[in-house]
Amino acid sequence: MKQPYELTIKEAIDLMNDGKLTSYDLVKSCLDRIEGMEPTINAFTYISKEKALQQASQIDERRSKGEPLGRLAGIPYSLKDVYNTYEEPTTAGSKMLDGYISPYNATVYEKLTQEDAILIGKTNCDPFGFGSSTENSAYGITRNPVNTEHVPGGSSGGSGAAVAYGGGLFSIGEDTGGSIRCPAAFCGIYGLKPTYGRVSRYGAIAYASSYDTVGPMTKDVYDNALVMEVISGIDEKDATTSPSDIPQYTEEMMTTIKGKKVGYVKEFMGEGVDKDVKEALEKALEKYKALGCEIVEVSLPSTEYAIAAYYVIGISEASSNLARMDGMRFGVEDSASNWKEKIINARGKGFGAEEKRRIMVGTYALSAGYADKYYHKAQAVRGLLKQEILKAFEKVDILVTPTMPVTAPKIGENTDDPLKMWLMDAFTVTINPVGVPAMSIPCGTDSQGLPIGMQLIGKHFDESTIFAFANAFDSSKE
Ligand code: GLN
Repeated sequence: MKQPYELTIKEAIDLMNDGKLTSYDLVKSCLDRIEGMEPTINAFTYISKEKALQQASQIDERRSKGEPLGRLAGIPYSLKDVYNTYEEPTTAGSKMLDGYISPYNATVYEKLTQEDAILIGKTNCDPFGFGSSTENSAYGITRNPVNTEHVPGGSSGGSGAAVAYGGGLFSIGEDTGGSIRCPAAFCGIYGLKPTYGRVSRYGAIAYASSYDTVGPMTKDVYDNALVMEVISGIDEKDATTSPSDIPQYTEEMMTTIKGKKVGYVKEFMGEGVDKDVKEALEKALEKYKALGCEIVEVSLPSTEYAIAAYYVIGISEASSNLARMDGMRFGVEDSASNWKEKIINARGKGFGAEEKRRIMVGTYALSAGYADKYYHKAQAVRGLLKQEILKAFEKVDILVTPTMPVTAPKIGENTDDPLKMWLMDAFTVTINPVGVPAMSIPCGTDSQGLPIGMQLIGKHFDESTIFAFANAFDSSKE
């Protein structure tokens, strides 16, 4: 029998509805698991013990009285530590926000609270989302629970690790260029980066506002679809959210994929992709063929420039977003007597090396005289990427690629070489400048037993097809 912390959301809901599990026992089981695992893994920056147990008891009481309950009633989950809530601290993984308590709640938190989900804690991440390994956090590195000598991926590495080890049944990650998909791939879980505009960003600490997306990290496809039904939708506080209807993802994921066309991106299967990753992907494509899909080769030539374009635009926006961090009301303590000195000290001590690198390069790329050479050129590449991907979708229903070219590197393996770290993101960063949805699902393990992720890329607002492909892949395993 599974321990409560090992359950999926659906299993836990069914057990609670049948009176075989209480939310209190479920939350307690996750908290005990966190206590046991955290000394090694460090997935959390904040644990909400008392409040979570109290909420669980309240939900059990309401349930016993037969009161109506929300769709995620009594389910414990975590938020990446970039989501503002006014009863918990929010650090974004940086010392710059040490001691910061937001005066308002993020929309995603409000929506989950409305459905009676229970926040169990906030998870560690690379500062402001800057990284692919969760080694840049000011609050220590996070380890991969599958193999603790390896990184969990990033920047939502705490979320990936927490879901993988059972520190809550799901987590809300944030993806600007792969931060949901990369840790999902490295930790062997399911992570969806929704279409830009599908889920409100209100209350998410911004990295690059034109790329940032909010999405679920879960133990299976159904749970992912269920959480998406709850968190999607228009929000008057985020003008970029779409008014389009929220599909019943949990039903649409059951749609057959027979007869659909799968695009195989040849540029994403070449040099630099690990042999084991390539083999796992080839097997997956065979499986789709066996399920009645047609495999079509697709070429996206501009992806050669995707990493460069993504980073130039991303860090330009980041340098602008971070300009507001002045250390005046929270952050690093400093006794400087004048304003200029205070700001220099606060930003100098509060930001870590990765934040400084990005602020400096981003400011440079935006400055008069260089903007045409870098920022505007990168925007032109963004246009090309969009055209190529939309054109590919005239021929196919979905694109299938590896999520990452490699499996989880060892801790410290890339920390001396930031460029190598950035290059690892080739297949995920291509997606955010275009805005289409993409999901990482597990598709095997390498020779060391480390998880391999497969990326399913859909058309704008077509998360349903992604879920259907993910579900068909998993169902054919059994
Ligand atoms: N690794 C990428 C970066 O550092 C993605 C980060 C993210 O999605 N937040 O920019």
